[in-house]
Parts: sequence; structure tokens; C-alpha cells
Amino acid sequence: HLQLDDIDLAFGKHSVVRKLSLRLEKGSIGCLLGPSGCGKTTVLRCIAGFERLAGGQILLDGNIVSTPEHSLAPERRRIGMVFQDYALFPHLSVADNIAFGLRGENAASRRERVTELLGLVGLAEHGTKYPHEISGGQQQRVALARALAPRPSLLLLDEPFSNLDVELRERLSYEVRDIIKATNTTAILVTHDQHEAFAVADEIGIMHEGRIQQWDTPYNLYHKPVNRFVADFIGQGV
Ligand code: ATP
Repeated sequence: HLQLDDIDLAFGKHSVVRKLSLRLEKGSIGCLLGPSGCGKTTVLRCIAGFERLAGGQILLDGNIVSTPEHSLAPERRRIGMVFQDYALFPHLSVADNIAFGLRGENAASRRERVTELLGLVGLAEHGTKYPHEISGGQQQRVALARALAPRPSLLLLDEPFSNLDVELRERLSYEVRDIIKATNTTAILVTHDQHEAFAVADEIGIMHEGRIQQWDTPYNLYHKPVNRFVADFIGQGV
């Protein structure tokens, strides 16, 4: 599971994350939803280990990975990441892109895992193609397969669908949820798009000015907003 206890982060004098806490159980999908600039990406960067905290702590599966004094290196956190600009390697086939995350394993087990993942993301026929030969939605599913390949203990998704058109975005949101659930991976999604958040997440934190205003199920956010900001933000999206 993932746990953030009262984390603080500032860039110079500009406080970006303020006393932010959340807890996500194993296999659960959480989402940080909020307007541009509210600090969502910065929280993900803290979880990934790219930023040093000014206060608080982050725990992954019960182990402390970030405090203001100590920070476990990003590559040692067993975190998978998917970002909006697919960032697939253009010169590698789909299968080799997925296999990239499995360096260190022997060839036979890599092949087996890649075949399994291609099936999981519905691209069994496309392993030998190159990224430019498949659609944007398919590329994003390859990015997801690559991130899941080493069986990360946590998956981070930052606006993973924002380069896609609206219709595809919605379909892919549900597909991605099913894929993540099938692997029982704990995941956290960052988006400013409410439809996306509601389609993918079990629990959503509405963020504003570096704080989570309400961490709740989609149902409760909609029916029992705790303050004006949450009510207005959720109200705008429907
Ligand atoms: P968006 O959806 O637009 O990416 P966001 O909610 O993810 O927004 P962040 O990217 O986390 O927001 O940025 C939060 C605030 O921190 C913004 O005001 C941004 O300008 C500032 N910020 C982010 N990174 C840095 C940095 N490296 N140095 C200084 N300020 C930064």
C-alpha cells in the first residue's frame, strides 16, 4: 500500500504541497483530481522519489521511502510510470518496448512475460510492430504493459489519456482500469478530467492549492461534497 503523512514541498518560497496525507490499500486505484497548477504532478514526483520533501513522510508497503532527511533512489522504489506523451522507444518493437522493463531476467522468462502482457492489453497480434505503426490508444496500452512488466508495487499515471481524442479517452479509461485491476496493482492517477477520474478510480482526492480538500469515493464526492470548492469543481464537470 501507499501512505503519505502530512507531506510538504515548496519551490523556493512557493509552497506547492501542504500537509497532504492519503492512504491507498493494495490493489486500490486512487486519483488526484484538480485544476491545473494545484500540485498534482508534484505529488507524483514526490512519490516517485524525484523531489526531496520539506516535511512529512512517504511509506510504500510499510517501508519509509521519503522524509526530509532521507530519500530512497527512484529506481529502488519498484514504481511503474505512465505519462501523457507515451515515451515509447521509437526504434524498438512493441514487444521489445515491453521487455525493456525486464532487464536482468533471463530471455525465456522475458519472452513469457511479454506474451502474457501483450495478451493482457489486447495487443497479442502487434508485438512485432513499431510504435509509429499503431494508434495512440494502442501506444498508451503498450506504455501501460511496459510499466506493469516488472510487477511494480505501485503504478503512477500522470494525465495518461490527455493526448487522445475524447471518445477514445473514455473507452481507454475503462480498459485501463480493467487491466490494472486484473493485475491487482495499487495505482494512483493524476488528472484534471473528472470523467477520467470517475471511470478509473476507486477513491478520488480533490486537490486545490496543494491540499486535498476531500478524499472519497466518486459517489460521496458527487452527493456529499464537504465544501464549496468540491461542490463547484464536481458540479462543473457534469
Ligand atoms: P498541471 O495539471 O498543469 O500539470 P499540476 O496540478 O500537476 O498542474 P504541478 O505541476 O504539480 O501542478 O505544479 C504545481 C505548482 O508548482 C505550479 O504553480 C508550478 O508552477 C509549480 N512548479 C512545479 N514544478 C516546479 C519547479 N521545478 N520549480 C518551480 N516551481 C514549480
